[in-house]
Amino acid sequence: TNEKEQNWNLDNSYTKLPAIYYSVISPNPVSSPQMVKLNKTLATSLGLNVEKLQEEEGIEVLAGNKIPEGGASLAQAYAGHQFGGFTMLGDGRALLIGEQLTPAGERFDLQLKGSGRTPYSRGGDGRAALGPMLREYIISEAMHALGIPTTRSLAVVLTGESIFRETELPGAILTRVGASHLRFGTFQYGANWGKVEDLKELADYALNRHYSHVEQGENPYLTLLEEVIKRHASLIAKWQLVGFIHGVMNTDNMTISGETIDYGPCAFMNEYDPETVFSSIDTQGRYSYGNQPGIGGWNLARFAEALLPLLHENEEEALKLAQNAMEKYPEFYHQNWLSGMRRKLGLFQEQKDDQSLIEKLLVMMHKYKADYTNTFRLLTMGKAEDTVLYGKEEFTEWYKQWKMRLENQSEGKESVEDLMSKNNPFVIPRNHLVEAALEAAVNKADYTVMEELLDVLSQPYNYAIEKEKYCSLPAPSNRPYQTYC
Ligand code: AMP
Ligand code: MG
Ligand code: MG
Repeated sequence: TNEKEQNWNLDNSYTKLPAIYYSVISPNPVSSPQMVKLNKTLATSLGLNVEKLQEEEGIEVLAGNKIPEGGASLAQAYAGHQFGGFTMLGDGRALLIGEQLTPAGERFDLQLKGSGRTPYSRGGDGRAALGPMLREYIISEAMHALGIPTTRSLAVVLTGESIFRETELPGAILTRVGASHLRFGTFQYGANWGKVEDLKELADYALNRHYSHVEQGENPYLTLLEEVIKRHASLIAKWQLVGFIHGVMNTDNMTISGETIDYGPCAFMNEYDPETVFSSIDTQGRYSYGNQPGIGGWNLARFAEALLPLLHENEEEALKLAQNAMEKYPEFYHQNWLSGMRRKLGLFQEQKDDQSLIEKLLVMMHKYKADYTNTFRLLTMGKAEDTVLYGKEEFTEWYKQWKMRLENQSEGKESVEDLMSKNNPFVIPRNHLVEAALEAAVNKADYTVMEELLDVLSQPYNYAIEKEKYCSLPAPSNRPYQTYC
């Protein structure tokens, strides 16, 4: 059959977990699915047949109308702290259809987002609109190209049905690919609504799926905690280094794998300001750019709490182990951030005043409202004179200091340029670029703007393709840019 020729190679290890962790649901067919975007590179690396996927029967799978042999069809249960408040959640509009085993021997979850109601939908319709699904596609693929661990996007299909938000919108389904969809919130769910045995099974599953290469020592659950702490310290440092603001860092949106997940209200910062917030519902700035590292720690503490029953049979001992592990987070984060910043400035060796050199630059960028990405891009290109900082007295001073520091390294100019260009993207998915691509696609069914943008975003460190059009800032506006969940 055609379905076999699509090369699905699905397993569903998740269904071997205790039944509390998911609900089996039958697919919720849509009337006339139509493919609007397929990630051919990703499809190929997953071992899928690109030609067959684009045929009617392939699209049926990506629309949730048909589950291929070996697949599952389930919604995952999870809980989470949303803006600090704990609540029961679960996949309210997503369907796990299986785990694709790739030719390289890897395992990836395939999840349809916008696939209809589930037992966890609460008041929601279980559906998604085309605009936000294309937005997730663009930003998650850009993140991947930037070298940041993330779930990826395999396809977007139109359902042929309308959904209703403030207005009538075209419905769409995104196929999300991830190392798994285990969340901090999955553990919080197990800890709150399962038996210790259920929690243990989940932890064993997570260890096996994501940390099997790590020496597990005598307390594997402590190892799990320590490794998740390390991965999040590294992940959040990477967000900070490119100016990515996740926007909804609830514990249900934090993965055990250390991948970025849930591209709802996220956006990239233009001018450097730690207080930057884009999300319309984040009125307190809980998830502002500058708060992300701290919130990362807060979220990890909630994960650690969920693991307590597995860390030690004695509660106090368990707490001590968790606290000791958590204490390392700020330092892990800081080291990741500092070494990343060194690379952004072309510094090869560590010196004790590096941090002050970096902070001085950031303070100036804040004071003079310098664009974050462009400042580093222009420094990389040797065009300091084009930055808004140029001509300011403290910048002249700083620039001299930086140049001296570079000259005192044994690495030459070319190595410095190379290091900087590999760490300072010339392009990010700027809000106005993404909006223009979505406007053309959603309102005019013109996908060329998006395709061209995706092309550029796939090589953010390739300065040979640097173009003014993708580096320029949006026209000034008196309406602040806002994002929605
Ligand atoms: P998020 O803010 O994207 O992390 O979503 C929080 C929760 O709301 C998750 O349980 C989602 O599955 C659920 N959710 C979001 N949108 C919908 C929708 N349209 N229908 C049902 N559930 C939804
Ligand atoms: Mg979510
Ligand atoms: Mg979301």
